[in-house]
Amino acid sequence: MSEPISRKDFLKEVFGFFRTEVEKESRNIGIAADSFLLPPGAGGQDEFLQTCSQSYQCVSVCPYQAIEVFRNDPQDARYGYPVINPRRQACYLCEDFPCISACKSGALRMERKTIPLGTAVVLKDICFSYKGIYCPSCVVKCPLSGIAISMVDNKPVVQEEECTGCGICVQVCPTEQPAIRIKPSTQNRMEKR
Ligand code: SF4
Ligand code: SF4
Ligand code: SF4
Repeated sequence: MSEPISRKDFLKEVFGFFRTEVEKESRNIGIAADSFLLPPGAGGQDEFLQTCSQSYQCVSVCPYQAIEVFRNDPQDARYGYPVINPRRQACYLCEDFPCISACKSGALRMERKTIPLGTAVVLKDICFSYKGIYCPSCVVKCPLSGIAISMVDNKPVVQEEECTGCGICVQVCPTEQPAIRIKPSTQNRMEKR
């Protein structure tokens, strides 16, 4: 006869299933055009566009395939440059920053590796939790859960000064358009040109 499952194990199983479903769902959701960031170690869009040699070494070495080549609009000056869209794949801020090491042009620099990519901002009008539907995805998946983002009265609240802007919360948010976005730092902001 099988052992009765404890309440704790039951909740773990249910929650594990929920998380898997959220991950599957997040991969199926389309990419929002305004959510691109420059990779870690960038020094602002002007400098980046002048310095990046488009060798795509950073794209090749990223173990998470977090860096992609911007191909949205051939008329846009950013066309062909490496970017991050956290909705597709967030940055894991690898300890050794292989993307920066691989960049030989000086567009990505180690001395800028600690600059946050940006800050997460919850869009309360579309966030499930702010509509009364319990949704802990962003808080649970944040590598700094309880520090950069916490559940307060069953709603996610970001601590701006602790958030790295990695975008994992954006990737896992189950709303059709992400209810959490990254407000990019000056160094990582991308604007249409
Ligand atoms: S820090 Fe790591 S995950 Fe982030 S872009 Fe660089 S290589 Fe990819
Ligand atoms: S951007 Fe990263 S560190 Fe900031 S709240 Fe989201 S998952 Fe946490
Ligand atoms: S921001 Fe997204 S993941 Fe976080 S609580 Fe709201 S709906 Fe859920």
